[in-house]
Amino acid sequence: MYINIHTHHTKPVEGIISIGNLYKDFDSIETNSFYSVGLHPWYLINETWEEQFEVVNEKCLLQNVVAIGEAGLDKVTETGFELQQTVFSKHIQLANEVQKPLIVHCVRAHAEVIGLLKQTPVHVPVIFHGFNKSKELAQQLIALGYYLSFGKGLEKQGLQEVMGALPRAKIFLETDNSTASIEEIYAHAAAAFQIDEESLSLQLQKNAATVFGAALTRI
Ligand SMILES: [Zn+2]
Repeated sequence: MYINIHTHHTKPVEGIISIGNLYKDFDSIETNSFYSVGLHPWYLINETWEEQFEVVNEKCLLQNVVAIGEAGLDKVTETGFELQQTVFSKHIQLANEVQKPLIVHCVRAHAEVIGLLKQTPVHVPVIFHGFNKSKELAQQLIALGYYLSFGKGLEKQGLQEVMGALPRAKIFLETDNSTASIEEIYAHAAAAFQIDEESLSLQLQKNAATVFGAALTRI
């Protein structure tokens, strides 16, 4: 059994438990798939975000919406940073309110993301998705209790070494918006941890049970 905790392809695939991410078109939610919902920092607009966030507020109550996000901070996008911070804080509060894990998008803004997670503070599991940075940063985030999700970046030996040194209980895998398959990413991850895919699969099922509870099995 494969678990893909973050993909932008929201159609269900046989044999894979996927969490499809929606940052718009929230009415496309179907009952036979799992989702995360949230406003992506790339697409925030001053005049409209509050209205969209109302929809997120409503949709996140659905049983098959198992996480809030992706939401976060990005220093390489046009969106104003202050607006990003305001909206990210709202997502932290919402995740706390509905007690669902938070999937974080973070680009060159780790200190600010950590700052807001502490300031609000967050009371649900936090997953930094698409992690592809240094061993030091990975260890810092894990020491703070957060989870890291790895994707296509694992094709690179360097990132495999970063992941291989981390506690397996804090890891997730994802395809995000890439065309890579989750099977390929599992293969890279098994190589990184120097374990067989069966053990990896069991470990990731355990991690998902810890973070998402029974929500990921209820369809
Ligand atoms: Zn994404």
